[in-house]
Amino acid sequence: MSYFRTAVDEMTGYIPGEQPKPGTPITKLNTNENPYPPSPQAIEALRQLDGEWLRRYPDPFAKEFCRAVSEALNVPPDWVIVGNGSDEILNVLIRACAEGGDRKVVYPMPTYVLYQTLAAMQPAAVVEVPYPEDFSLPIKALAEAKGAITFIASPNSPSGHTVALDDLRKLAQQVSGVLVVDEAYVDFAESSALPLVSEFDNVLVLRTLSKGYSLAGLRMGFGIAQPSLLKGLFKIKDSYNIDAIATIVGAAAMRDQAYKNACAEKVKASRAQLTTDLKHLGFTVLDSQANFVLATPPTSPQTNAEQLYLALKARGILVRYFKQPGLEDKLRITIGTDEQNQTLIEALISLLK
Ligand code: PMP
Repeated sequence: MSYFRTAVDEMTGYIPGEQPKPGTPITKLNTNENPYPPSPQAIEALRQLDGEWLRRYPDPFAKEFCRAVSEALNVPPDWVIVGNGSDEILNVLIRACAEGGDRKVVYPMPTYVLYQTLAAMQPAAVVEVPYPEDFSLPIKALAEAKGAITFIASPNSPSGHTVALDDLRKLAQQVSGVLVVDEAYVDFAESSALPLVSEFDNVLVLRTLSKGYSLAGLRMGFGIAQPSLLKGLFKIKDSYNIDAIATIVGAAAMRDQAYKNACAEKVKASRAQLTTDLKHLGFTVLDSQANFVLATPPTSPQTNAEQLYLALKARGILVRYFKQPGLEDKLRITIGTDEQNQTLIEALISLLK
């Protein structure tokens, strides 16, 4: 006898990347955090916080943060939904749109594993459409799958590629339900799908403060969509999903676009250098628009990707290894500081010798 719904018994929970205690001497290149600290203005806002803010319930819609998003991205403040990480908004979207029967969840593969986990929880049927080798968007197959909700991560994880705006526009026209463009890594990319939000009432663009803004520990993400789409999501989100601290600190970070952009420029320069260095070692590296690269190590009987992952871990360097079809021969490596990347390269040189 189980205490749980059949769907819960049958699903596999999402397995997050390893999170060693802060202060552990480790080169942590496994969960795509930003290697630079949060904006000094965000830290100052945290220091200034008054106990009174914590005594009272927070604003249910985190309006102060929505105003900051409105100023930074030039969207109306009531086109913004805020979540406890963008993961929470993904959860709300699934609960609002998907269920058994025809209300399917559709996405190209490989992509962010949580889409599958959330669909299994609902439960809702999933249609996974493989990306071709060149990672062009399989628009027709995605549209024909008739998802109640279709997820496209752009830049995608773990490939790092960006989907062209015109392809997303075609998909928005052709899908039956909601199209979510998950832009968790957009701060390191050259293009965004944000313009589609004013063109289509079925498009939601999802952002996070975890990557570009160096605030993964704050847990803050937000979606941008027309109010008619947000209406259904507001009905089911927790009343006070964003705490008072996150609202204030997140708003200060959002208002400091210059700092966020300067850190992103450093990450992009390091990404180019790391890509070159890995290629020199014989890795195949996909062009990335994110703060990580997907790299295939040179094959030899002694070193496959999983063994390299374990050997790096033994040396205190964490990268991400996914034991799933199409990815077993690859490592996803977060872009660290130049010093951290150099530590990785030196370890690889000695391991591949
Ligand atoms: N989308 C993608 C594609 C991601 O890789 C992640 C981070 N694991 C998220 C969303 C969730 O980020 P967060 O909940 O920290 O905002």
